[in-house]
Amino acid sequence: MSATELGLPGIRGAKPLGVRDPARPDDPRLIDRFGRVATDLRVSLTDRCNLRCTYCMPAEGLDWTPRDELLSDDEIVRLVTIAVRRLGVEEVRFTGGEPLLRRGLESILARVSALRPRPEISLTTNAIGLARRARGLADAGVDRLNVSLDTLRPERFATITRRDRITDVLDGMAAARAAGLDPVKVNTVLLRGVNDDEAVPLLRYCLDAGYELRFIEQMPLDAQHGWQRTEMVTAAEILSRLREAFVLTPDPTERAGAPAERWLVDGGPSVVGVIASVTRPFCGACDRTRLTGDGQLRSCLFARTETDLRALLRGGSTDEEIADAWRGAMWAKLAGHGIDDPNFLQPDRPMSAIGG
Ligand code: SAM
Ligand code: SF4
Repeated sequence: MSATELGLPGIRGAKPLGVRDPARPDDPRLIDRFGRVATDLRVSLTDRCNLRCTYCMPAEGLDWTPRDELLSDDEIVRLVTIAVRRLGVEEVRFTGGEPLLRRGLESILARVSALRPRPEISLTTNAIGLARRARGLADAGVDRLNVSLDTLRPERFATITRRDRITDVLDGMAAARAAGLDPVKVNTVLLRGVNDDEAVPLLRYCLDAGYELRFIEQMPLDAQHGWQRTEMVTAAEILSRLREAFVLTPDPTERAGAPAERWLVDGGPSVVGVIASVTRPFCGACDRTRLTGDGQLRSCLFARTETDLRALLRGGSTDEEIADAWRGAMWAKLAGHGIDDPNFLQPDRPMSAIGG
């Protein structure tokens, strides 16, 4: 059965809040109809960015969310607290847009790291400005850091991100490692005809520097709707290029629910990951729940419905009312993203506004 056949109404707000599906068991966790339990919360802190990666947003940027529509620091901390204390969330990843652009980031991190039980805290960043903030981020409670880097060549970096900032990124990664945020994970998107000849050099660079590289298949989440299935560089292609230079064997310590398929490089202990969201979807093991910068809850990157937690927060709902709306939204999570379904529709929001 396809994801669309299993689907719920596709219009935002079509399912009234507070109407409980009688089939939903009385379980405090974020469970869904397919037996999955969401324990990993992704929080987008802003949709703004200081780069303009071609596969993410147009050169002129986007209409950024007005400030009063974004969740305040207190609202973010309240929602994360509800997620951790009432809903069983164990891991919180802050992302964006570019999370380092969020004023008050370190204070949000410190407040979340003071929660008990303390969730694991991670950050996904483009690393612009990271060099001078890495130590403070580690002190504020960041446990793990992912940095996006698609090329080692300065002129290509400027083409892909439309900004000449590769040195900032490389310095930021080194500073993160020096601050003990180890291992720094590097996220790479390969684009055909642009940087798809760099799989091997990027892996060599990361192995030498002690970073953990993960390739991410390009997904239909760009604001310009330019993604084409036939053009994307597949996991199979990436692995075959890597195998020309390295021996890859499956990593026996792979974690259930983790999106990256991990491979030992030349017998280990170094590993490389491939996140094949399109060609080898891992929806059956998904443990994610997502919060946008303006307080909309999404059960999936590709969801076409959202639940307005900001309205509940600002309308005076109690923590338990918000928790129950969250449970209801996750209960309705679809089986899969359906990218290969002929009826697949790209979500209205781009990746930068959902939080990648
Ligand atoms: N600005 C931060 C950064 O770039 O790391 C955080 C947000 S960014 C949206 C998170 C990740 O999503 C990055 O690693 C980026 O490369 C990836 N990404 C953005 N658009 C993508 C797309 N269309 N397909 C696959 N990955 C994408
Ligand atoms: Fe900015 Fe990250 Fe999108 Fe690049 S991928 S434009 S760094 S949000």
